[in-house]
Amino acid sequence: MEILIIGGGVGGLTLALSLHSVGIACRVFEAAPEIRPLGVGINLLPHGMRELTELGLQDRLAKLAVATRELCFYNRFGQLIFSEPRGHYAGYDWPQLSIHRGDVHAVLLAAARERIGAERIVLGHECVALEQDSAGVTARFENGASARGAAAIGADGVNSAVRKILHPEEGPPAYQGINMWRGVTRMKPYLTGASMLIAGWLEVGKMVVYPIRDAIDAEGRQLVNWVAEIQSPRNVMQDWNLAGRLEDFYPTFESWRFYGIDIAAMLRNADQILEYPMVDRDPLPFWTQGRITLLGDAAHPMYPRGSNGAGQGILDARALAGCLRRERDVAAALRHYQAARLNPAYDVVLMNRANPPDAILREVHQRTGDRPFARIEDVIGRDELEALSENYKRVAGFEREALRKRASLV
Ligand SMILES: Cc1cc2nc3c(=O)[nH]c(=O)nc-3n(C[C@H](O)[C@H](O)[C@H](O)COP(=O)(O)OP(=O)(O)OC[C@H]3O[C@@H](n4cnc5c(N)ncnc54)[C@H](O)[C@@H]3O)c2cc1C
Repeated sequence: MEILIIGGGVGGLTLALSLHSVGIACRVFEAAPEIRPLGVGINLLPHGMRELTELGLQDRLAKLAVATRELCFYNRFGQLIFSEPRGHYAGYDWPQLSIHRGDVHAVLLAAARERIGAERIVLGHECVALEQDSAGVTARFENGASARGAAAIGADGVNSAVRKILHPEEGPPAYQGINMWRGVTRMKPYLTGASMLIAGWLEVGKMVVYPIRDAIDAEGRQLVNWVAEIQSPRNVMQDWNLAGRLEDFYPTFESWRFYGIDIAAMLRNADQILEYPMVDRDPLPFWTQGRITLLGDAAHPMYPRGSNGAGQGILDARALAGCLRRERDVAAALRHYQAARLNPAYDVVLMNRANPPDAILREVHQRTGDRPFARIEDVIGRDELEALSENYKRVAGFEREALRKRASLV
């Protein structure tokens, strides 16, 4: 039995490594002709890190990342609303890593090439059609090649071709009025040197900042990732590499200064600025059709508001490998996978629309009428803040004790 994986991103490569770990053969078909370290920062939370640790990759990733120590919420006037420890610092068995997406991808790719064989990671193959019958699936590629396997897994991202094959009536991703500019800046460490900071609110400008690489030069600077978000009708194309322009968002943040960070200087000194709209897609009724299924962003693209995009794809990959290990009837295994993952993943998609962790900022923004507060306790109680945070962890699958106790997905 050989599984065809369409897409060699974080989800597809995690699936390849997980299938290999349970003795199931696979090949990965990636549209890009070469792999480059694309994107900027992402966060791998303890639930995703547990899976990558089971794959033996924690040390390799940790060397390239910053182990996040705390998450701090501020209003746009720089007043602290709430902070909580994260990862190991919060007593988890697994760390939270803030890391360049390109570094995660490179670690997964190197491990896949070592373990599965470089020839099984096939570049320059853009899937354009899938045909299935009772014995298998044939994938057809834009370059005229084809491949036959027992199943085909669409791990081909937010603009998935496989999703379109299964759901041809669906339109483009839904833009819901928030635009994002992302970048990385080399700068001196701030706060603990491993603090993730979320500030402001969408209507008046929101900013997320976290370091993703330590000690990058002789001056001990870090590579710091930032995302500026503003509510706006500006719906640019969904392209992970669209260049952004400083002047389109800088005025909103020009006056921001926080505990050791000159936000305006950070924005001005960016190495690179990218722009993309915050999009997701409505939940689908099904991912699995016979021997074809979806995984990761292809199945459930979500707003990047709770650091769960990569993590949920990693959970999918592990769960799917577990189903294929336990159930050798491939179509049944894909149905079991859907039963295990569709609702939990869509709970996160919906939660990211309504009450992601940054709902804390929304509450304070609304209750104070966007004005500085004298005492945060008079605006919102610690219990309520903790409940917002804990509720998100429960829905997304990284509540500490539940995560520690649950059986391996594979
Ligand atoms: C270039 C890029 C940059 C990103 N940057 C960031 C970032 O800075 N911050 C962040 O939080 N998230 C980023 N993401 C998204 C993040 O990686 C995903 O949300 C998450 O890791 C889920 O991974 P995935 O494997 O489902 O999808 P993706 O990581 O999107 O991977 C999908 C893969 O499928 C390939 N593909 C697409 N269509 C086809 C096809 N028809 N045939 C074969 N292969 C195909 C793509 O080239 C890609 O390699 C980025 C994704 C990409 C592709």
